[in-house]
Amino acid sequence: MTIAENLKQIRSELPENVRLVAVSKYHPVEAIMEVYRAGQRLFGESKVQEMGAKHESLPADIEWHFIGHLQTNKIKYMAPYVAMIHGIDSYKLLVEVNKHAARVGRVINCLLQLHIAREETKFGFSFEECRDMLKAGDWRELKNVHLCGLMGMATNTDCVEQIRSEFCSLHDFFCEVKHTWFAADSAFCELSMGMSHDYHEAIDAGSTMVRVGSKIFGEREYQTNGNINHKSE
Ligand SMILES: *Cc1c(COP(=O)(O)O)cnc(C)c1O
Repeated sequence: MTIAENLKQIRSELPENVRLVAVSKYHPVEAIMEVYRAGQRLFGESKVQEMGAKHESLPADIEWHFIGHLQTNKIKYMAPYVAMIHGIDSYKLLVEVNKHAARVGRVINCLLQLHIAREETKFGFSFEECRDMLKAGDWRELKNVHLCGLMGMATNTDCVEQIRSEFCSLHDFFCEVKHTWFAADSAFCELSMGMSHDYHEAIDAGSTMVRVGSKIFGEREYQTNGNINHKSE
């Protein structure tokens, strides 16, 4: 199957209310153009520098979503153009994004990342930390960020039951947060969960945005030969 065929196949499996973020990290602009020509306009990247270079050399109507772990000193490079930041995992980071968005006169859409996996290595708020942050209410003063929903990653496991239960717990939490703090905000509607190996389970659990990379583009270099073929930041 070609990249375009992979894309078409995945698209045909998505319900109408679920958007596809084509995760193009580590893949060259030629591959992205192939997906672009097949009609995809929403792409996700996990390194600020790499996303910036691609943003500059690819068509302007691409919507760039940042899905990686964000360091505060990198925000300024993407503030002028990024369409959504999926991985807000601290209040401090939200404040920083707000500051840089204000400097360029924008309101940046953000998702709060929740830690739902068993692995220690995945970033994100615990449900309790997230509740505390929302309860405190200071985020309401941040006029240059818009909280649009939640994001999470399930444990990397073959146990489908485990994956399902993690996605369901995030969906339940989403409903609680929506009801408690965002009932009047129709823009708070996104639940970003699901990757190549688990997007079906994520959709069953109420995902509105799946982030799919290898199933479209093929395996990334570093996964096959352990050799990361890009400059680290
Ligand atoms: C890389 C990445 C993806 C896509 O992973 P695939 O398994 O290639 O689909 C999705 N979400 C995040 C946060 C990622 O870093």
